[in-house]
Amino acid sequence: IKRDWMEIGQVVQEIMPMIQNEAIMHNVTVLYYPQPGLPPILADKELLKQVFLNLGKNAIEAMGEGGTLIIREHGDPGGSDKLAAEFIDTGPGIPPDVLDKVFDPFFTTKPQGTGLGLSVCQRIVDDLGGTIEVSSDEHGTEFTVWLPCAKT
Ligand code: ADP
Ligand code: MG
Repeated sequence: IKRDWMEIGQVVQEIMPMIQNEAIMHNVTVLYYPQPGLPPILADKELLKQVFLNLGKNAIEAMGEGGTLIIREHGDPGGSDKLAAEFIDTGPGIPPDVLDKVFDPFFTTKPQGTGLGLSVCQRIVDDLGGTIEVSSDEHGTEFTVWLPCAKT
């Protein structure tokens, strides 16, 4: 896997048209909060776009009709050489007993789902030297992707 330095905001910008298309079809409001001045990340742009697109699509699918998708980026207040992209939705959330299964290959709760999206996301993020985390309650779900970045 070939990694290059890039701005995380640039990667998000490149998937926004596709996210907006999906969002419009489902009456979802997308809020993106770019954060200028973050250090560059070390990643493969096409693979990372695939991860972000999967997380965005899952969020929109989870909300059904209406709702809000928030996309944020931020550094680590602890000062590590990682920074985060977050995909936060106002969907129904993931039940606690299901939460530890969502990254399993072929796990899906959708009639036409493949259950491969998140397992592929996790594999890619792992290959990029990052981590992916999920937290959820009945008000919504938050996926956080931590990626290696330049030291500041
Ligand atoms: P698929 O989208 O084909 O079902 P994924 O691997 O992308 O496969 O997701 C697996 C499952 O995780 C989904 O079927 C759904 O139950 C759950 N899931 C993923 N993202 C969300 C989310 N944002 N809100 C609620 N559930 C989610
Ligand atoms: Mg999916």
